[in-house]
Amino acid sequence: MEKRNQLYEGKAKKVFETDNPEMLIVSYKDDATAFNGLKKGTIAGKGVINNKMSNLLMQMLEKNGVPTHFVEELSERETLVKRVKILPLEVIVRNIAAGSFSKNYGVPEGKVFKTPTIEFSYKNDELGDPLCNSYHAVALELCTDEELETVKAYAFKVNDLLKAFWNECGVTLVDFKIEFGRLSDGTIVLADEISPDTCRLWDSKTQEKLDKDRFRRDLGGVEEAYREIMSRLEKAINK
Ligand code: UDP
Repeated sequence: MEKRNQLYEGKAKKVFETDNPEMLIVSYKDDATAFNGLKKGTIAGKGVINNKMSNLLMQMLEKNGVPTHFVEELSERETLVKRVKILPLEVIVRNIAAGSFSKNYGVPEGKVFKTPTIEFSYKNDELGDPLCNSYHAVALELCTDEELETVKAYAFKVNDLLKAFWNECGVTLVDFKIEFGRLSDGTIVLADEISPDTCRLWDSKTQEKLDKDRFRRDLGGVEEAYREIMSRLEKAINK
């Protein structure tokens, strides 16, 4: 696979074309941003961890019936993925109140929901990724009604699978954000990444935060938390 010109550079990743029009190469950076780009920094070694973690989790999901964009890990920071058109929709699933949910609805962080919740944001930096409901998503033509049903079903399945997996690692999956894309034939697949940048992961015993909230909230021990969560995942995978 030959790497060609850079298509796009995002906050945490770069994306390159390849000699195959149906494939792209994603390259993970150590750059971190929060609050819609207002807070900027780097987390040393994050790109390597997020690349590996996302690939291992996507392979686990794929085995369990969730189609993903993952093709092959190429190096520490680079992965070959299927080319998709990303649906401009952030899909957020929550098991426990935290972050914007706690703030918006006045619910203390840590309140466990009786059943998981889902919400959507319209992926648009200029507008600050506003919340939108499923009717808004269809009205805005971000996706069709049918695609949205597929997205919702996959999102809850991903939650069940990730929750069980992290549980084995002594980690509580609080919430996460995922993105989906369309393959050239229209098939909906899970895309983007699944990492401590995009999930809230708490130590099951101590409730210690092992994710990007350490960076967002200046809690210190950011690199250590990324390394800790990666080592727990590797232990579970190698069991
Ligand atoms: N999230 C993300 N990207 C975003 C916004 C949120 O990956 O642009 C993730 C975040 O890491 C958390 C979940 O989605 O696991 C829910 O985030 P929330 O809406 O509470 O927003 P935040 O408090 O991070 O602003």
